Amino acid sequence: MIVFKFGGASVKSGDAVKNVGDILKRYPRKKIVIVVSAMGKTTNAMEEIVDHFFHKRKKELKKAIRERKDFHLGIIDDLFPGKEHPFHREFEEFFGTMEQRLDKDPAMDYDFEYDQIVPYGEMISTKIISAYLNEIGIDNLWTDIRKFLKSNDTYREARIDWPLSSELTKKNFTFKDSRIYVTQGFVASTTNDLTTTLGREGSDFTAAILAHILGAEHVTIWKDVPGVLNADPKWFDNTVKLDRISFQDAIELAYYGASVIHPKTIKPLQNKNINLYIKSFIKPEEEGTLVGNLEYDKLVPSFIFNMDQVLIRISPRDFSFIAEDNLETIFGYFYKHGVKINLMRNTAISFQICITNNKRKARNLIDDLEKDFKVTYETGLELITIRYFDQSTIDRVMINKELILEQTYKQNIQLIVRDKG
Ligand code: ASP
Ligand code: MG
Repeated sequence: MIVFKFGGASVKSGDAVKNVGDILKRYPRKKIVIVVSAMGKTTNAMEEIVDHFFHKRKKELKKAIRERKDFHLGIIDDLFPGKEHPFHREFEEFFGTMEQRLDKDPAMDYDFEYDQIVPYGEMISTKIISAYLNEIGIDNLWTDIRKFLKSNDTYREARIDWPLSSELTKKNFTFKDSRIYVTQGFVASTTNDLTTTLGREGSDFTAAILAHILGAEHVTIWKDVPGVLNADPKWFDNTVKLDRISFQDAIELAYYGASVIHPKTIKPLQNKNINLYIKSFIKPEEEGTLVGNLEYDKLVPSFIFNMDQVLIRISPRDFSFIAEDNLETIFGYFYKHGVKINLMRNTAISFQICITNNKRKARNLIDDLEKDFKVTYETGLELITIRYFDQSTIDRVMINKELILEQTYKQNIQLIVRDKG
């Protein structure tokens, strides 16, 4: 069996869903588990819905629900023309359950409510896709993943209960009742059947979990890019596609901020040596990128750009050296505010940490640090990471940049820079 993952962009319109059907026709005999995200930008829209709901902004909530409904209705009208089709009714009923849920009063816990509401995006998208595929003769079973993937109750960042999920998943996905299953990414549930989510962009991770548990031959993530590129075309001209990358390289690229693959996705695949293909849903006949247990000698340098960085310099008030007890306090504050460290370096008298400028979090963190330390910081910086760097790649990214800090580790270099003048 194999696992396919279709993200939001690959199912953002009626045509896009039809294209999913065309892709599946290329695999007429394969056993496939299809993991799908919410359609288009629906998860962002659902986050707004949660926010209106939680803060009881009734008017805005109503409008946002209406917009989500219209968006999905547009797709459904395209896929199932004519109001007689039974799916229209099914959709109305299902959407109604969400509206009823949003008519209640919110509970105290924001993250809990988030996880009860945002996954409607995935539920609706899989219902539409499953019904459409059945309609065009690609028989499949719609599957509620919450019955099989079990997690703890850390809402919005739930941790999978692997032993229990394995047992339940293996029992269900036997392919005796169907050649194809259509199910939701990003979503799981507690043992008490309360819905949880695995963190934004978590659908890739779901695909990897299912592949790991079911021992898939391979996983394919269908994307709107031809594969993994060596840089984000938003920041960089002349990008090249990486044809093959090792699991190790994929983990490092994701870790440093390359947005193609969710960092958590690789490990479950690597542990079972399951190949991952990143392919274009626009040109499914093309090779894409293979991520696997690979070795290669031609190392293509990759570039990762993290914008809007802040470099914080922390030194003790009493001019003591940065010692273990200070470090404990410092890390404690980062943990408390949930701020990810992008780079750090300590010298005898100061500790420097680069973070992304999430304004509220960064402000609160710095306020806390200032209680115990002397703190200075610089904003408006860029963090550039180059994997497999050499002097020419450094020169290339340093054009018109002033170097603030540089750190090398094996094949990686990280440069904190600011625009010149
Ligand atoms: N729909 C979720 C999100 O947008 C999960 C995913 O697409 O991976 O974050
Ligand atoms: Mg995605």
